[in-house]
Amino acid sequence: MKPTGPLPREFAGQGGELMIAGRSADSWAAEHGTPVFVYDPAMVATRVARFRAAFPGVDLHYAIKANPHTGLLAAIAPLVDGLDVASSGELARALNAKPAAAISFAGPGKRDAELEAAILAGATLNLESENEAKRALAIAEQIGVQPRLAVRVNPDLELRGSGMRMGGRPSPFGVDAERAGALVRMLVGAGADWRGFHVYAGSQALSAEAVIETQAATLALVARLAEEADAAPPLVNLGGGFGVPYFAGDRPLDVEAVGASLSGALASRPAILANTRFAIELGRWLVAEAGVYLTRIVDVKQSRGETFLVVDGGLHHQLAATGNLGTVVRRNYPLALTHAVNVEDVQEASVVGPLCTPLDRLGDHVGLPAASVGDLIAVFLAGAYGATASPTAFLGHPPAAEVVA
Ligand SMILES: *Cc1c(COP(=O)(O)O)cnc(C)c1O
Repeated sequence: MKPTGPLPREFAGQGGELMIAGRSADSWAAEHGTPVFVYDPAMVATRVARFRAAFPGVDLHYAIKANPHTGLLAAIAPLVDGLDVASSGELARALNAKPAAAISFAGPGKRDAELEAAILAGATLNLESENEAKRALAIAEQIGVQPRLAVRVNPDLELRGSGMRMGGRPSPFGVDAERAGALVRMLVGAGADWRGFHVYAGSQALSAEAVIETQAATLALVARLAEEADAAPPLVNLGGGFGVPYFAGDRPLDVEAVGASLSGALASRPAILANTRFAIELGRWLVAEAGVYLTRIVDVKQSRGETFLVVDGGLHHQLAATGNLGTVVRRNYPLALTHAVNVEDVQEASVVGPLCTPLDRLGDHVGLPAASVGDLIAVFLAGAYGATASPTAFLGHPPAAEVVA
């Protein structure tokens, strides 16, 4: 039997029938059909409150690529200070949820129409290259709008799952730190509304120490760049990278330790940053645990001594849980049989989806209570990089329902 990841705190203490946002998994599935993603905004609000307590005075941005669902976004937008987007599609959604001044748009390869839409709306562009800067300035000139421009920096440090590494790497993201100061001088000289710096050093970190080191190095870096540019940044987006425990052995990130350390670093920050605001942009840490994917068992089959629970959902909705989105070694997400959560008496089974590919496996040799056709399986950590990060057209099955509790 292979282990599964830990259930999020809100579910870990439950027994018997799984409850999501105060309602049974069964009733969610009965009302909306399966497969269905159920998102609980109250769980997001709990995480926002925890962030606020740990990071007083620091702005919180939501990186909407983690989950751009319209209803969920409407629930999150009032709780956060900004929305970070990475396409004109996300920009349009964000503009429905938040004023343009609270929206920033990052990502390489922004097309002219995307630059124009952002400048017209008054959103901040996080510039990814000098070329993009020139195109943005030209478009702004043409339409007669002063553009809000920040510089995304390709830093000389990297936040990785297990630690922080110094040393610059070539990257499609951001302007190399060595050239960022000069670009800021150019933007200010051209009359742009320069908004500051954006530094994003990595994702899915569970080590507080690594995040603390990264934030300290980022602060030092932007102070140096501001000196080089001879301009104080109104805002510094310090990135994020707060991870969530997906797999057996993962421990949650100690955000209070990170917050305490950042408070100390900010209290003694270089003078050129005295009037700067700071933001942290989070995706999965805010929403991953707040989503559950419910899928129904269609067939229980035995094959050469192994049990397969064949369900109506799979990698076309929840690619990450099958280990096919950016993981090297396939490991099991937390999952449960919804009418017997946290039950000790389990048997070995593999949970597989309906796609004609061996990649479609939501649970590999996991321990679950005895299951029958018609029972529901819950796949946890489905609130981030689920529906929109999966190949929904692959094999032509219908999309999953998505509901906000
Ligand atoms: C993807 C991304 C995020 C969100 O990452 P999470 O791991 O979900 O927190 C934040 N900022 C930038 C620039 C990103 O590309």
